[in-house]
Amino acid sequence: MFVRVGEELRKLYQNAKKGGYAFVASNVAEPNTMIGLIEGAERSKSDLVLQLSRSACEFAGDGDAVAGLRSLGNYMENIADGRDIGVFLNMDHLQDLDFIREAVETGTPSSVMIDASEKEFEDNVEKSKKIVELCEGENVLVEAELGRIKGSEDGVSSQESYYTDPEKACEFVERTGCDLLAISIGTQHGVSKGKDLNLRMDIAERVDKKLRKEGLERPLVIHGSSGLTHGQMEELVGKGVCKFNKDTRYQYEYAKTALEFYREHEESILPEEKSKASNEVFAESGWSPNKDHFDPRVVSRKIRERISEVIQELNEVTGSRGKSLYI
Ligand SMILES: [Zn+2]
Repeated sequence: MFVRVGEELRKLYQNAKKGGYAFVASNVAEPNTMIGLIEGAERSKSDLVLQLSRSACEFAGDGDAVAGLRSLGNYMENIADGRDIGVFLNMDHLQDLDFIREAVETGTPSSVMIDASEKEFEDNVEKSKKIVELCEGENVLVEAELGRIKGSEDGVSSQESYYTDPEKACEFVERTGCDLLAISIGTQHGVSKGKDLNLRMDIAERVDKKLRKEGLERPLVIHGSSGLTHGQMEELVGKGVCKFNKDTRYQYEYAKTALEFYREHEESILPEEKSKASNEVFAESGWSPNKDHFDPRVVSRKIRERISEVIQELNEVTGSRGKSLYI
């Protein structure tokens, strides 16, 4: 089922934190990845957190982000309904107050992330707090970020990363009232390799301990986790992390699956004399393409299957497999 209720999502993360497991929050921008993820999560008997960035909404809405959010939201709801697992939508890396308001008004997301992490501490507090106030009474959770994550995500880019300061994290949570806290431990947005990262897992642990001590315990979020090894993810789950954001991994799996499929079936799509690959080929030569391979649904099914395998594997790593609250 598709769950639009923030309090249900809170329960999901609280149970994960108590039970020592986590969720991979998965970015989508189109139906194949989305359906693959829902399929795979259902097979894992795990609940699922999907994410949309503003640019993904714009893509889906052909430039109109709200139209895109409504369309993909409806799509998610229709595909998720009738299944036993819970499917939630988080809005990823939002910055613009008007768009956040519009997104919340659609009634679709159960959480939004305000990313003001590139601002100075006081400005970040102020902006994040404003979003918490906006979402109050709307049953929408707010994720805010403290620390900076290197790389580029949805038009926000940072050359440098800096680690989250555990002391500041307490002050930040207390003053903003955010429901989830995204921290920087040295991961990167985009493609990065676990072995090359200067990962500071101790920061997650210290932030978590400090928050607990102050009675401010929150689910911690790691962005840019596509490059983390499974071992690194497992270790972070034990340090208060309940949500790992992944986007690049699925984009890569999507492209690789399509590339391999089209390579394997090139002769079904292009004639030997490739320069003639146009409409005329159909009319003028004895060669004809093979619909069994060029129908976009054929490659799309492969992509969905692959994405389904990936999320099942990830649910195993984070421990959310078999833990759905709705089965
Ligand atoms: Zn991110």
